[in-house]
Amino acid sequence: MKIELPREVDYIINELIEHGYEAYAVGGCIRDSILGKEPEDWDITTSAKPSEVKKIFRRTVDTGIQHGTVTVMLDKRGYEVTTYRIDGEYEDNRHPQNVEFTVDLSEDLKRRDFTINAMAYNKQKGLVDIFNGLCDLQEGIIRCVGSAAERFDEDALRILRAIRFSAQLGFEIEGETLKAVTEKAAKLQFISAERIRAELNKLILSPHPDKLIDTYKAGITKVVLPELDAMMETQQNSPHHIYNVGIHTIKALEQVGHQKELWENGTDKQKQNMDNKSQNDGMNFNQKELLILHWAILLHDVEKPGCKVSGPEGDHFYGHAEKGAETARNILRRLKFDNETIDTVYRLVRWHDYRFALTPQGMRRAVNKIGNDIMDLLFELKTADILAQNPEERKEKFENLAQAKLRLKDIRAKNECVNLKMLKINGRDLIDMGFKPGRSMGETLERLLEQVLENPLLNEKQTLLDMARQYKN
Ligand code: ATP
Repeated sequence: MKIELPREVDYIINELIEHGYEAYAVGGCIRDSILGKEPEDWDITTSAKPSEVKKIFRRTVDTGIQHGTVTVMLDKRGYEVTTYRIDGEYEDNRHPQNVEFTVDLSEDLKRRDFTINAMAYNKQKGLVDIFNGLCDLQEGIIRCVGSAAERFDEDALRILRAIRFSAQLGFEIEGETLKAVTEKAAKLQFISAERIRAELNKLILSPHPDKLIDTYKAGITKVVLPELDAMMETQQNSPHHIYNVGIHTIKALEQVGHQKELWENGTDKQKQNMDNKSQNDGMNFNQKELLILHWAILLHDVEKPGCKVSGPEGDHFYGHAEKGAETARNILRRLKFDNETIDTVYRLVRWHDYRFALTPQGMRRAVNKIGNDIMDLLFELKTADILAQNPEERKEKFENLAQAKLRLKDIRAKNECVNLKMLKINGRDLIDMGFKPGRSMGETLERLLEQVLENPLLNEKQTLLDMARQYKN
């Protein structure tokens, strides 16, 4: 096992040691390094007090000085340096009443959540692993440091973090820790929406979104996402489906997850293939879009439980997309997401069931209704949805989707007009022509767009001006 500290981290640790203090890289960065993954950030823990850290380094930012954290800036990048600390008594299952600085590393490691997150390293002393984190890491186990029940009483977010790490790493949760997860799940009600959101995001983006089943079984979603419980408890008796709504949803999430896993663990060659594939399919999403896609998948059938109607020929879920979009919006508002995420997920859920009319006109109308900006995400959502349905019904659905993709590609290649913005005339032109600003002008533009969606050749300024003149008279 070799831990390679980045030059800057090594420099900060050495400076602190040279000034007579202890210092180590600690927590997630050590866990990830041992697993051979690139850590997202490097946290440093030290016996130096914040004021002492500030004296040693030229550029620092007081990030959380009352908790002992100073950010050291090197080459525009920040490195968090936190003084060894003991968390005092916890109030309300989330906040220590006070924190106390210490010069004992083991005290600092003791306050950390899981054994795999409680290891420290520097070049001089090597790995400091007083809770056997390395062994748990090698065996794939999530285990609390000390008594799991007590650790969850102190900070209930750890309950959800246990499952999030098991999903990210593909680990099992150790028996006592798992027992406490279930016993203490209700305490998550005391945790802020923002902290819960961050954990749920990581869980659904992980290679194992199926661990959502564990959150359901443990009573976690009952508190943080009760809508999933309703989905897990709704059967769908239909030739399209072989799973209940909840399992179908999780299977759909797994379809995107599989591609992500390839990204994370694949060889360069595989990655290159993925890259070509994703570009060919227009599946070239950034982190924010990926998150939006995952939430849209998670919530696409959220209102199936509320819309279920059972008849002799099976179950129907009329109106679940419209109603589901509203519910998805409420859930994401409750979790304090930003407006862009909320609106985009709303639109994706709203249109996830849309059946494309596979004519050029039909497709232009669809893009106009749904929005060109979310079409690639919608195709991805539909693909995942189909893959989680009855495989016997899949072929026709995929052929249909492939046709729709081709039509969209064609529309884009020809830069055909699909919305008012792309129309070759605008309100200004109509005013110049003598129109009065107001409703009828808007209606005229809509009428022109209707015509252009039918026949893109009409999207010429002069043609449209002539048409508008006729509408005016
Ligand atoms: P990731 O970056 O994937 O979230 P991480 O382990 O770096 O993983 P952070 O939330 O950045 O997670 O926390 C850094 C370290 O701080 C953890 O590895 C752990 O040692 C400790 N830690 C974080 N949150 C808690 C908590 N709620 N209770 C106890 N220790 C925690």
